[in-house]
Amino acid sequence: MSLLEETIGANFARAVGQHADQEALVEAAGDGRADAARRWTYAELAHDVDAAARGLLAAGVAKGDRVGIWSPNCAEWTVIQYATAAIGAILVNVNPAYRAHELQFVVRQNGMRMLVVAPSDRTSDYVAMARAAVDECPALRELVFLPAPHAPGEAVFEPGVPASDGETTWEALVARAGEVPASAVAERAATLSADDPINIQYTSGTTGFPKGATLTHRNILNNGFAIGELLGYTPEDRVVIPVPFYHCFGMVIGNLAAYSHGCATILPGRGFRPDAALRAVQDFGGTSLYGVPTMFIAELALPDFGSYRLGTLRTGVMAGSTCPVEVMERVISDMHMEGVAICYGMTETSPVSTMTRAGDSLAQRTGTVGRTMPNLQSKVVDPATGETVERGVIGELCTRGYAVMAGYWDQPDKTAEAIDADGWMHTGDLARMDDDGYVMIEGRIKDMVIRGGENVYPREIEEFLYRHPAIQDVQVIGVPDPAYGEELMACIILRPGAQPLTAEDIAEYCRGELAHYKVPRYVDIRESFPMTVSGKVRKVQMREEAVARLGLGAS
Ligand code: AMP
Repeated sequence: MSLLEETIGANFARAVGQHADQEALVEAAGDGRADAARRWTYAELAHDVDAAARGLLAAGVAKGDRVGIWSPNCAEWTVIQYATAAIGAILVNVNPAYRAHELQFVVRQNGMRMLVVAPSDRTSDYVAMARAAVDECPALRELVFLPAPHAPGEAVFEPGVPASDGETTWEALVARAGEVPASAVAERAATLSADDPINIQYTSGTTGFPKGATLTHRNILNNGFAIGELLGYTPEDRVVIPVPFYHCFGMVIGNLAAYSHGCATILPGRGFRPDAALRAVQDFGGTSLYGVPTMFIAELALPDFGSYRLGTLRTGVMAGSTCPVEVMERVISDMHMEGVAICYGMTETSPVSTMTRAGDSLAQRTGTVGRTMPNLQSKVVDPATGETVERGVIGELCTRGYAVMAGYWDQPDKTAEAIDADGWMHTGDLARMDDDGYVMIEGRIKDMVIRGGENVYPREIEEFLYRHPAIQDVQVIGVPDPAYGEELMACIILRPGAQPLTAEDIAEYCRGELAHYKVPRYVDIRESFPMTVSGKVRKVQMREEAVARLGLGAS
């Protein structure tokens, strides 16, 4: 597979030329009525992208200016992604879960000049927080308020009403298209190069301040394209995207993989709801469904799971954190996703660096994160020495090639810590690679638990406990212990109706199956796990909560 050496705008224009009358985008209505969905063909989407791009030009947005989008998933997110790419503005994805302080941090960090803002809803007063950011951050000159979502009967959204020169609505921005000539976007496009930065994504950063991974057209277009190739996407495919756009999973594995192959994208809603995701598959003929493992777990656990018609599904992507084998197996058998792939990667690598392939054995497709993507390289090194380890030995996974980010925005020192002089991105993930090049992720270096001098990889214990009939979901963490340094805690979500499990029950279940030092000492029964918006379990937070609850004192 050769690399695409074009901009995102050029690639999209080609897709529009080939698939003008085909459906490109479906946004399901909030109330679930299929007939109330908003729909675009490729030609219609291209029209809206062009209007937004010209609106941005009329507003004076220059090449390289940072334009933020702070919104849960909606059709306008896709439009602004392609509009900014068309004119060479750098789109800054702002996590919708951020609050005032975090927003101001990212606005300031990249000198953002314009922010597109979601309507305020029950949980987040986006409009007020965006206004506070304008007061605090002089570079931020313009707020653009998105309209209320298309959710008849759910009048809980309050879009911003412009109250000053620096505020406008999405409709008004788009209406400014007429102020610039129709040729203006093409003229700007002629000045752009595939190596220009086009996107900044702040990594969740569980320690310290978030860092702005800066990605070029070449980074994310090629990664999205390769993912679509390996999934066998054709214009017949209809890709259901319940994962967030602010993360690569939505905007690269979703939008870029789909649009570079003439597929339609289907948005089930602003935030994730398992029933909405399955209804979107059913109502709009989804052929491909995405999710982090916990999303698939929640879908499979729906009491009325069997009533959804999922027969159109053929493939999809599970990624973002360890994908339990049992869940993969059920996704293949019960959701008809015969071609489902596991993708592994991180924001800094655009994101996908390894992926399972359709022809892999069931064991390879469920028990590994696949092999290195085309045009990329992987190696596993001893974290202490940096030497490449033997096949089968656990070490730190490193990635090299076109997908490695340009760097962290305005943080050359942090970039140098992550990408070494030879261009290898050090992932911070523990992995093993087998003789055939299949990679198994064993956890984060920092999640590894050291109990009495033994290295314990929580993943192994989680996989074992998943088999327990009363356990719906489980996370294993290390908590401080005066005798052993750390002890293990299993945090468990029970299946509906299951009797609570005690530490003794778990010890009994593990007896004779796991080495004694891997048997969790504590069990914590929970309703849910604290999650990041991109669906990663926040183990650091769980550990802090456990420490406080058990009165253990930090180690
Ligand atoms: P992010 O930059 O937010 O995409 O997070 C990247 C991290 O997610 C990686 O460094 C891994 O720790 C984790 N991750 C992503 N995909 C997988 C996967 N398929 N299996 C295990 N961990 C994963």
